[in-house]
Amino acid sequence: ALEVGRDLGGAVLRAQLMEREHRLVQQLRELDGYRSRMVATVSHELRNPLTAIVGHLEMLEGHPEVGGNAVASLSAMESAAQRLTRLADDLLMLARVTAASEADPADRPPLAPVDLLAVVTEIVELLAPENARRRQQVQVEVGPGSTVVLGDRDQLDHLVSNLVGNATKYTPDGGTIRVHLAGPTSDARPSEVVLAVVDDGIGISEADQRLLFTEFFRSEDTRARQQRGTGLGLSIVRSVVRRHGATIEVESAVGSGSTFRVRFPAPA
Ligand code: ADP
Repeated sequence: ALEVGRDLGGAVLRAQLMEREHRLVQQLRELDGYRSRMVATVSHELRNPLTAIVGHLEMLEGHPEVGGNAVASLSAMESAAQRLTRLADDLLMLARVTAASEADPADRPPLAPVDLLAVVTEIVELLAPENARRRQQVQVEVGPGSTVVLGDRDQLDHLVSNLVGNATKYTPDGGTIRVHLAGPTSDARPSEVVLAVVDDGIGISEADQRLLFTEFFRSEDTRARQQRGTGLGLSIVRSVVRRHGATIEVESAVGSGSTFRVRFPAPA
């Protein structure tokens, strides 16, 4: 009888603990949702006044009565305001994607078939002027198999644009960037669509590779520091990867370039 009593006590305690854990998880989820909504609202509200500030500064810079030192000050203010705009945009995007991937499945916007090749082609075209300015070669290579995944087009645009944009930023003038796409093939990887962005740029140390996907992380490398950035790009990438049930891996060595590889589940 004693044994039974003790056992029962253990079971009740376990049930109570599980119930408490469940409530805590629920509360954390709610807090996280609140945080995402708050960040999204604040960054959205920041955008309009910032756009007005940039517009007026541009107008003043070209004003005939403004000259000398004032022009330099105005242009410094304008680039600071533009940096803030980028930060607000990145925060908004991150909050949106995070909210979408953490919402109840029923509340998530549905995923639809998206051809990754179309996304890559669009983004490579958008970045072409910057790559031309830096005399960088961009090669798009497509392996066998369909490159269609189930996804959110807007989010996938951001994913590809952040990865190819980083490859552009962190590769010196004259470098080469390869974007490789391969669909599911019957032999090698029957269930994956793989996107790889390969650069021959400055590379990432092993210690930094562990921190890359953390919000606001930027490498201490002075060459990396010369490039503008918010340190949110790869956090957005990580959220998009999660939302799509994909995985991401990095291979890199300082001085010899980086490869970011995203593996999407192939549509059934
Ligand atoms: P941002 O580019 O705005 O700084 P990201 O989150 O996109 O932010 O990247 C974080 C950091 O990771 C960058 O600051 C840079 O130090 C490093 N990084 C990202 N992509 C590359 C790359 N292709 N080559 C070298 N370093 C990179």
